[in-house]
Amino acid sequence: MRILITGGAGFLGSHLSDVLVQSGHSVICMDNLLTGRVENIAHLIGQERFSFVKYNVCDYVHVEGPLDAVMHFASPASPQDYLEFPIATLKVGALGTHKVLGLAKAKGARFLLASTSEVYGDPLVNPQPESYWGNVNPLSPRGVYDEAKRFAEALTMAYHRYHAVDTRIVRIFNTFGPRMRPNDGRVVSNFIVQALQGKPLSVFGDGSQTRSFCYVDDLVRGITGLLLLDSDRSVEQRTDRKFLMTQNKDANDTSMHDPVNIGNPRELTVLEIAKLVLKLTNSASPITHHPLPADDPKVRRPDISRARNLLKWEPQVQLEDALRRTIDYFRKVI
Ligand code: UDP
Repeated sequence: MRILITGGAGFLGSHLSDVLVQSGHSVICMDNLLTGRVENIAHLIGQERFSFVKYNVCDYVHVEGPLDAVMHFASPASPQDYLEFPIATLKVGALGTHKVLGLAKAKGARFLLASTSEVYGDPLVNPQPESYWGNVNPLSPRGVYDEAKRFAEALTMAYHRYHAVDTRIVRIFNTFGPRMRPNDGRVVSNFIVQALQGKPLSVFGDGSQTRSFCYVDDLVRGITGLLLLDSDRSVEQRTDRKFLMTQNKDANDTSMHDPVNIGNPRELTVLEIAKLVLKLTNSASPITHHPLPADDPKVRRPDISRARNLLKWEPQVQLEDALRRTIDYFRKVI
């Protein structure tokens, strides 16, 4: 396949590029380097099946030649980043998604949207199945990311129903691993860097809020599985709009076009994660408490039944192992 990955120089985009190039696909990596970094893809530059284009996907996107798939991963993704770049976050989720869906339609390419557990907001049900509609405050500072991704999902489904684009939506839960920026601001990278530098671990609030952490290799395996899953051609070839618009899918529908949660269901409090990082780094850093950011979700845990059924996927890397690998990475780069 010839695949365009937007945000391809980011944490997830670069790992996806690696795996897809290694499996024999050609990757065009597009990134405006707002939060992505050339270091993440430096080892791929010069390879025959990889090319990099510095570009903002909110502008008209042109790609020469055929394309088999478009993976839309461009967006600031850490709360710290989308608070710093609120308008760029809204634009890439809305305008950028529109541009790359238009490209996928023009090329007859499959389209995969990187969505997020943030579409569930501060959830009132735990764990969260894909059928849960979420509890999002559109006016809060983090609403820029949540609403951009919710709009992106709506636009993706509309292109599927109205234009018969072969779409996929993955809802990504908290993921960590090598290539996160040391100053990315997310909890695992913050705690590891602080522990290694002997600085206090910054727990926001009392640390009783929960998250469920997935190792990047597990996540990438789930996403590539979803991308490569073949469509039900009998439905795909029906391009009459009325048929596609009126398909009524219930919550248990295992259609590959409906969103799929990918994440690790092992749920920990933030305080538990802090203590685990201290133990695995042998650090004597103290824990300090800071104000909880506005609308910080109190719980988060994926229901991965759909991924299990549809993709036969589940995480394989144990949290402790995954943390050790990430700690080794940060030891080298900080
Ligand atoms: N958090 C924390 N200390 C930090 C960074 C984050 O206690 O230095 C908390 C944050 O308030 C949230 C959780 O850790 O409850 C996960 O935050 P992160 O920024 O990693 O991503 P989120 O899941 O909120 O998108």
